[in-house]
Amino acid sequence: MKAKIHPKYNQTTITCACGNVFEVGSTRKDIRVEICSACHPFFTGKQKLVDTAGRIERFRKKYEKYEAVQREKAQQ
Ligand SMILES: [Zn+2]
Repeated sequence: MKAKIHPKYNQTTITCACGNVFEVGSTRKDIRVEICSACHPFFTGKQKLVDTAGRIERFRKKYEKYEAVQREKAQQ
C-alpha cells in the first residue's frame, strides 16, 4: 500500500434508529442508520414501515373511510 493515499481506516460505531449499536471498521465516523440487521423486517419477521412524510398515515386514513363505507353497504 502506498502511504498517504489511503483514508484512515479505523473502528467506528454504527448507531441504528432502533437503538442497536455495533462496531465496524470504516473510513467514516459515527455512522447513523435507520435500519439494521436487528430490526430489519427481513430478519425480525415483523412488519416495520419507514414512514416517509406521513404518506402511510394518509393512506391509512383514506382506507379507514373506505372500510367504513364497505361496512355500511354490507349492513343494508
Ligand atoms: Zn436497528
